[in-house]
Amino acid sequence: AKSQGKNRYVVHTSELLDAMLDDYMLEVDLRRALEKNEFVLHYQPQINNETGQLIGFEALIRWQHPTLGQIPPDKFIKLAEENGMITQIGEWVIDEACTQNKKWQDAGMTPVKVSVNLSTQQFLTRNLITYMEEVLERTGINPAYVVVEITEYMAMEYEYSIHVLEQLKALGIGISIDDFGTGYSSLNYLKNFPIDYIKIDKSFVSEIMNNEQDAVIIKAIISLAHNLHKEVIAEGVETKEQLEFLKTHQCDISQGYFFSKPLPVDEIERIYLDQ
Ligand code: C2E
Ligand code: CA
Ligand code: CA
Ligand code: CA
Repeated sequence: AKSQGKNRYVVHTSELLDAMLDDYMLEVDLRRALEKNEFVLHYQPQINNETGQLIGFEALIRWQHPTLGQIPPDKFIKLAEENGMITQIGEWVIDEACTQNKKWQDAGMTPVKVSVNLSTQQFLTRNLITYMEEVLERTGINPAYVVVEITEYMAMEYEYSIHVLEQLKALGIGISIDDFGTGYSSLNYLKNFPIDYIKIDKSFVSEIMNNEQDAVIIKAIISLAHNLHKEVIAEGVETKEQLEFLKTHQCDISQGYFFSKPLPVDEIERIYLDQ
């Protein structure tokens, strides 16, 4: 039995096992990352297309791993969702982003909004509203300067989602639908959910200039959103041509490398604190 086990081991000593080990190690590290203060938020500017003014920042998490260096969210958010850590990490994000935005306002920066990404699991957590209330109170941030970004997947829990969104709304927080057009799309929720912003996914934006169909879709989203009294944010704006197209078609807000990549706090302060 022993040698058989050994053989089996040899057979499975493969990239698969390596990958499993890597995942396992990463998960062990992830469990300690919060207490070891290894997460940071970077902030990406959002610009009003009409005035060119800064209107907000999207907060995007990064993990400063002690040996692997900076790990992007795509590499660990899914893991955190699977092992249930996403709620704690997500709470840290809300706290950190609100605390930081209040600090900037107290330091004299022109007040702007901060947007945080909520995972579906976090959105469906029972104490999200209680936690939000607590952070608003503790940090003293005006809720008019806080936005949550949710994805279309939360619409699958239809009744409950409306309930949560209405409570967030009642707190005075803004609500944005992220990655619009890529997920579980139902025009029904645009009508029934108290949403303030629709974010056009960067996969559409990147094709505006070379794919007539994507251009048509963007124009339709913008006009639909405006008819429902919602503002439109385009993400992943990388070129002047894309920006001009979006401006021509009355898109309200732009975000992307054309203006700035997501930046750490010290760089945001260097650029925006004295304006
Ligand atoms: P997302 O919410 O759709 O965020 C936009 C992503 O596009 C970010 O990647 C951003 O850095 C990137 N991006 C911004 N401008 C451009 C551009 O002009 N071109 C291109 N190609 N990309 C651009 P990032 O920071 O790696 O985040 C990836 C995803 O991870 C996010 O996608 C979001 O779903 C998730 N994420 C990030 N932070 C958090 C968080 O605090 N909580 C949760 N639950 N998810 C997060
Ligand atoms: Ca987002
Ligand atoms: Ca997106
Ligand atoms: Ca996304």
